[in-house]
Amino acid sequence: MSQKFIEKDYQIVQENEKADIYIINTCTVTNMSDRKSRQMLRRVKELNPNAIVVACGCYAQVAKKELEEMEEIDLVLGNEEKSTIVEFIEKYINEKENKIELKDVMKQKEYSDFGKITYTEKTRAVVKVQDGCDRFCSYCIIPYARGRVRSRKPKSIISEISSIANKGIKEVVITGIHIASYGKDFKEKYELIDLLEEINKIEGIQRIRLGSIEPLLITEEFIERLEKLEKVCHHFHLSLQSGCNETLKRMNRKYTTEEFENITNILRKHYNDVILTTDIIVGFPGETEEEFEKTYKFLKKIKFYKMHVFKYSPRKGTKAATMPNQIDGKIKEQRSKKLIELSNKNQESYNKQYLNKELEVLFEEEKEGIYRGHTKNYIEVNYKTNEKLENKIVTIVCKDLKQFV
Ligand code: SF4
Repeated sequence: MSQKFIEKDYQIVQENEKADIYIINTCTVTNMSDRKSRQMLRRVKELNPNAIVVACGCYAQVAKKELEEMEEIDLVLGNEEKSTIVEFIEKYINEKENKIELKDVMKQKEYSDFGKITYTEKTRAVVKVQDGCDRFCSYCIIPYARGRVRSRKPKSIISEISSIANKGIKEVVITGIHIASYGKDFKEKYELIDLLEEINKIEGIQRIRLGSIEPLLITEEFIERLEKLEKVCHHFHLSLQSGCNETLKRMNRKYTTEEFENITNILRKHYNDVILTTDIIVGFPGETEEEFEKTYKFLKKIKFYKMHVFKYSPRKGTKAATMPNQIDGKIKEQRSKKLIELSNKNQESYNKQYLNKELEVLFEEEKEGIYRGHTKNYIEVNYKTNEKLENKIVTIVCKDLKQFV
């Protein structure tokens, strides 16, 4: 969106600076995100009471009326309006047109392409290939805010990544709301693996990293094609959410722990240096002590490198928010702590294996003589040197555990 403004000669300022127009790209993933979005909208109006304040994004998409009632907000736009945001704002300035009929995101059939983006990053660029999700997990509002699966045309993605490569950026992260569904909406069969094969051919790109993926994407057939792509990073973020089948069922996740374990076995068989990370929700409605213990035992067995642990937070408008047996905050806290400890322990034990070994690191940034970068399988390291290493892939040896972030 910034770029759309830059193209029309607007000037972008920092978050806390006084501006004539504030765009708040709201999030609605939890009730807390809604609250934070509202706070932000109020805060910017205080920074400049004469400014035009625009709310867009997911919260605006699902709660347009609620936001329109806030006196701090001048204009409410959804997700589909973002690609033409400048036109909407200019119309508001010229004609005071503020009753915008938002497109029904659930009826959108085509991916709204923003066109070519000029990246300001030097080392790693995040490329969005898909929007929407058809999964309807019981705790998640995203399908209602983003709509059904819409995939970006391969031609547009390849052209964007080619220009990223021309800028000297070495790594691309392939992202979306549910990238495993990439291509599902195309008439001709064309899936994520077909797209990755094409990206792998782009000269200059040295690393292709997959954003969070649904575990069921990983099949023997998929991996057999994937492992031939030398640029694909051996790091997979597989969202597990729970290690207990009963909880997974209530979450409306479509796999069992047995299937998930099989998927991790496939990955570990094909890549001996693979790093697996995950997301876990603790305190989902009805999660008994016994269910949590099942999750804990399962996580110990799988031994992820890192786990992002979330305490379940009810989201208005989802099935899980009305489920009985909501879990007490203190219990959520204890469970979360226990899993974070396990995650830290796992990470340390993996890091020990990488001590005194040669690691190929792509360095991203430098602060006071210390560079930070990632290995291909996403181990983050610090390295002190006088050399200029930014955006270079260098082989180093870490001799101290503190070098691992
Ligand atoms: S797959 Fe992800 S985005 Fe889709 S409904 Fe489930 S949690 Fe939400």
